[in-house]
Amino acid sequence: MDTVPKLHKETLAALAVAAAAAAAIIYKHHKLLRQSRAKWMRTMSFNDKWERFAAADPSQLLVITDFDATITAGDAEQCHDMLGASPLMTKAFRDEFAPLLNWTTNTSIDGVEWWDKAHELMLKHGMPPRPMLQRLVREAYMPPRHGALALLRKLEEMKVPVLIVSAGLSDVIEEFLRQHNALTENVTVCSNRLNYGADSVPQSVSPEEPVTSFTKAAAYKNAAAFFRHHHARRMILVIGDSVTDIDAAHEVPYDESLSVGFLNSRPATAMTKYADTFDAVVLGNGGSLDPLTDLVELININGRAREIELENRRKLLDKGRAYSLRLAAYDPARVK
Ligand SMILES: [Mg+2]
Repeated sequence: MDTVPKLHKETLAALAVAAAAAAAIIYKHHKLLRQSRAKWMRTMSFNDKWERFAAADPSQLLVITDFDATITAGDAEQCHDMLGASPLMTKAFRDEFAPLLNWTTNTSIDGVEWWDKAHELMLKHGMPPRPMLQRLVREAYMPPRHGALALLRKLEEMKVPVLIVSAGLSDVIEEFLRQHNALTENVTVCSNRLNYGADSVPQSVSPEEPVTSFTKAAAYKNAAAFFRHHHARRMILVIGDSVTDIDAAHEVPYDESLSVGFLNSRPATAMTKYADTFDAVVLGNGGSLDPLTDLVELININGRAREIELENRRKLLDKGRAYSLRLAAYDPARVK
């Protein structure tokens, strides 16, 4: 006959554990929130969006990010520039590529033709040979942005798909990620990819229409399989350092998007345009991605809190059911 008080005690204990877990989670939540927000230049819409994202389920999350000067630091060498100027490349290639890197005289600097010409020279000179990629990237000045690797690790841990949409080169980006242990299964690179022949020399570049900073909206088409596979994820984080980086999410269906732009070393006059484009703007070449990791961690924590709550509810329901069955089977006549 002591079944009822015992069950009651167990239920109370379970509730106390759940309440303590919830309190700890809420405390951590608010602490992270305070830390993160102090670091962000936020637009009017940002706070509401942050709240909606923090409450989102991790299974809803998808990240679209630029690579050059976004995953890498603001002053890092960018894919094509690094390749065109690398002492590891032949002199003939570097000499022909040099005019493309002269930003004061290059007339096609603002056009898609820049990428066509750059790729044409790479194919003409067979640069870079496949075995050279590893050293090319290792010896380049391409430091990761502060917080970038931590963010990628967290996203991998949570199995959040990441699409890197870049006007650079997939081969360089993937080698960079590999060297930083960040080329994980949740990461897809949508950029200009060299197609190597059996002799390890590039034969062509895909896609035929190059991925440029002016054509990032084509990411939805170029990465069609990625978006098809993850169509149920409708909370999108968009990260970039050019105002056109946001175009990568332009055709992607979503319920909510939150965008972060890195101003890097651009003049303060560019701020208005950046503030009009992104929900948050981070200043300086060394601007950190840590605040975004905090947000992703919040999403993770809240997701886990919901899982714990559901699990506790399920356990209590099971106990309630077992108790009812025992009461139904209880026969007072058998108790002396
Ligand atoms: Mg960039």
